[in-house]
Amino acid sequence: MPRILDGKVVRDQILLELRPRVAALPRRPGLAVVLVGDDPASAIYVRSKVKACEDLGLYSEKHAPPATTTTEELLALIHDLNQRPEIDGILVQMPLPRHVDAKKVLMAVTPEKDVDGFHPFNVGNLVSGNPGPRACTPSGIMELLRRNEIAVAGKKAVVVGRSDIVGKPMALLLLHAHATVTICHSKTADLAGECRRADILVAAIGRAGLIRRDFIKPGATVVDVGMNRLTTAEEVEAVFPGNEAKQAEFARKGSLLFGDVHPLEVDEAGAVTPVPGGVGPLTIAMLMANTVAAAEAHLGQG
Ligand code: NDP
Repeated sequence: MPRILDGKVVRDQILLELRPRVAALPRRPGLAVVLVGDDPASAIYVRSKVKACEDLGLYSEKHAPPATTTTEELLALIHDLNQRPEIDGILVQMPLPRHVDAKKVLMAVTPEKDVDGFHPFNVGNLVSGNPGPRACTPSGIMELLRRNEIAVAGKKAVVVGRSDIVGKPMALLLLHAHATVTICHSKTADLAGECRRADILVAAIGRAGLIRRDFIKPGATVVDVGMNRLTTAEEVEAVFPGNEAKQAEFARKGSLLFGDVHPLEVDEAGAVTPVPGGVGPLTIAMLMANTVAAAEAHLGQG
């Protein structure tokens, strides 16, 4: 059976290392979180980010404009947050409502406060290997690999997904760590064949259980970024046939979190991240790390 790469253990290590850095600052690092509308999944993510700030002793404030908010109103809010010296980081929770120009809003966050690493200035720094905040999910995965002593240099890495927030920055970070990287997407011919060549396979797709046994090279490290929800008993039965414990868990919770990798088909992998408890906790830890680093830079202690 594969080794389980526990994201919570790595998260706790990262947060523990941040504590003395926070304590050394003359004031608390400050994070502003902007949550537009009432998407329940986004609300859960924002709650856990605010809670992580509290636990680490960071100042945080939440702005929750209604779903009808215009691009201009959001730009005004961001402009205000950009000006405030006690705010070191600004996070705009994605996705934004369709009528909002998300690119414009992300561009408006000043690069020094862009703790998500989404601003084109910081994307440019990532591409050219200059210092700067990195997108939280991919940088968390790099920490997971490093702290579990999974070699990257010289390995074949396959990233499935080419989004700006996960797939592309993931591929670049692996490339900078000297992997030979392939990026796959919905138009890739022979996805299973490409994946089967991977020593390190990162699935960031958003399709429940797409990665099956025949996608995985024996001994490979498989990182599952996907966070999909199974919302019917039939879906649960389809992926966990005859599994009463899973049906009971589903009945209790009303839905089940399920990754992009089928958890019953990873037995030949060398190491895997679980869902939940794998990549998710790392994303928040790296957001905290980026916020602390932004505060250090603002306070001249970087
Ligand atoms: P996007 O929808 O932005 O991107 C999905 C990518 O997957 C696209 O590049 C798409 O290809 C590709 N894709 C879709 N279907 C297929 C297919 N059948 N075969 C091959 N490739 C396919 O998603 P995100 O990158 O934002 O997120 C991906 C997943 O990760 C989601 O489940 C999300 O919830 C989760 N996530 C988890 C985080 C965490 O902290 N654990 C953080 C962020 C995201 P194309 O470009 O051709 O359309």
